[in-house]
Amino acid sequence: MSESSDCLFCKIIAGEIPSSKVYEDESTYAFKDINPKAKVHVLIVPKKHYANAAELAAADPAELAHIVSIAQQIANESFHGAYRLVFNTGLDAGQTVFHVHAHVLTGEKLDE
Ligand code: IMP
Repeated sequence: MSESSDCLFCKIIAGEIPSSKVYEDESTYAFKDINPKAKVHVLIVPKKHYANAAELAAADPAELAHIVSIAQQIANESFHGAYRLVFNTGLDAGQTVFHVHAHVLTGEKLDE
């Protein structure tokens, strides 16, 4: 499915809900998390709607690799290439938005 009408991140990608854009290309969008857990906390999303990382990996592994490369680029620019990359997957793991998103945490030394 390329878009889900009741999906928060589809609405952000479409510009229907404002966001603080960090990066965009034809397949991918990145924006600042509204509730940052690190000095730099960016969410990277494919523009096509997939519920979670496993669905994205199965349908479009190149997009998953692209997301990792964007995370690296953000960290190179903000904290000498060091970063934490998190995909919460499933309600019980803390996933609250069911449009796959990579959390990139960087910009400062992170707690272990
Ligand atoms: P999850 O808990 O892994 O699904 O992550 C969802 C993330 O989306 C959380 O870190 C929220 O702070 C973030 N979030 C929710 N709504 C917005 C928004 O409107 N703009 C930016 N980030 C958001």
